[in-house]
Amino acid sequence: MQFGYKTILNINYTDKMRHTKVKDLLNSTTTLHEVNAKGWVRTFRNNQFIALNDGSTIDNIQCVVDFENTADETLKRITTGAAISVTGTLIESKGAGQKFEIQVVKLEILGDSDAEKFPIQPKNKPSLDFLRENAHLRVRTNVFGAIMRVRSVLSFAVHSYFQEKGFVYVNTPVITGADAEGAGEMFQVTSLPLDDLPKNEEGSIDYKKDFFGKQTNLTVSGQLEGETFAMALGQIYTFGPTFRAENSNTSRHLAEFWMIEPEVAFNDLHDNMDLAEDFIQYVIKYTLDKCPADLKFLESRLLEEEKSKPQADRSELALLDKLNFVLENNFKRVSYTEAIAILRECTPNKKKKFSYIIDEWGADLQSEHERYLVEKHFKCPVIVYDYPANIKSFYMRLNEDGKTVAAMDILFPGIGEIVGGSQREERYDVLIEKMKVIGIDEEELWWYLDTRKFGSAVHSGFGLGFERLVLFVTGMTNIRDVIPFPRTPMNAEF
Ligand code: ATP
Ligand code: MN
Repeated sequence: MQFGYKTILNINYTDKMRHTKVKDLLNSTTTLHEVNAKGWVRTFRNNQFIALNDGSTIDNIQCVVDFENTADETLKRITTGAAISVTGTLIESKGAGQKFEIQVVKLEILGDSDAEKFPIQPKNKPSLDFLRENAHLRVRTNVFGAIMRVRSVLSFAVHSYFQEKGFVYVNTPVITGADAEGAGEMFQVTSLPLDDLPKNEEGSIDYKKDFFGKQTNLTVSGQLEGETFAMALGQIYTFGPTFRAENSNTSRHLAEFWMIEPEVAFNDLHDNMDLAEDFIQYVIKYTLDKCPADLKFLESRLLEEEKSKPQADRSELALLDKLNFVLENNFKRVSYTEAIAILRECTPNKKKKFSYIIDEWGADLQSEHERYLVEKHFKCPVIVYDYPANIKSFYMRLNEDGKTVAAMDILFPGIGEIVGGSQREERYDVLIEKMKVIGIDEEELWWYLDTRKFGSAVHSGFGLGFERLVLFVTGMTNIRDVIPFPRTPMNAEF
């Protein structure tokens, strides 16, 4: 085969992989004499037109089969889901909607797909619920192809942002011996035989016999370890899996999710808010630039989905407008005290429409309150800061007033909390005192306390749930649809 057009398409061929990606074929600037494409059949019409998709783009390439000169046996095997290889000429398409198509000269069935059995049939549009049960195949649909490409680009954007700014990427441990973070219920890691647990003299489980000689868990956050690195490397970030055994069966919680946690020495709470805002705007911009076709597709999907909803529940902005809105507008910053004042006076609170009525300073904000602030009151992303100390974690820095901490949550429309962060308590005495009150064992966290003993300094960081970001950017509404194989209570299939 001659590959004279190599340079035109800007493709790197290896000897083994000589087919051209559908994306590159569709973006070609000229017709081409001989091309080869490999992918999966989406549809086959009139015994003639194959819509072929190879995952490189949301768009299919039309492959026109010369059915008069193709064996019936072969034509029958061109079914939805089948893997095929087509060789032919890239010609200008007469059909609407595509610039090029392949006039097929040679067609090879690489892998059959029984039309009766393949669960994903384009004719009867499968529901998201059905697709969730077929997560191994749902990625072959337009929606999930688009989501997973956007997810991939977003994760690269995360690294790109921090690397450009000189942050060091840190891999904090997945198995942790520190259970004091208190961010959520933990999954225990053990190699002890569960049907025959070794007991100590008091009759409780003898963890000295466990793999690590102590009780261990899957991490709920890399923050505490991340802080130790920030106190040496200056600016660090983690981006890895975290696990929470919280039994919250919501559309925003997973038992296994990916968290991004930057931690920066010498940053105070306001620097922290600036960083979070700048970061979110950067990754959204990056994705808008790199994934226009996928986002356009997801925008129309959302419009379609919302048609069945009452007007009041539909988004005010279409997806791309919503993303641009976040780029172009500053996040509204309000203190917890101001937020409570707004919530106390708002109509749903007075009319007792909230499940949790806000009547006093000190109340924890529930998702219904967060969404009211964002979606009804401010109508833009909101940063709430300076929360009451007793509803936040022990490591957050106590403010001068003695009753609030330098914490901040970023709340997004349709999502609620997307970021939780704080300035960390850098004063050894204050931190120890706080731990005593809450009952956290000093000895457990001896290493964490060392950072406050040796060269302690102001520092801040935050945690952003990656899937909540993907939810926002893709306009999907259930977090189970933005991670390849979701883990939720009672579900660990695949
Ligand atoms: P929420 O109140 O929504 O349960 P949280 O306050 O427990 O969240 P943090 O401990 O502050 O969450 O974690 C930091 C970020 O991680 C959150 O802002 C959110 O984006 C994300 N996150 C937390 N729990 C989950 C979860 N179970 N699934 C997916 N993302 C999560
Ligand atoms: Mn939080």
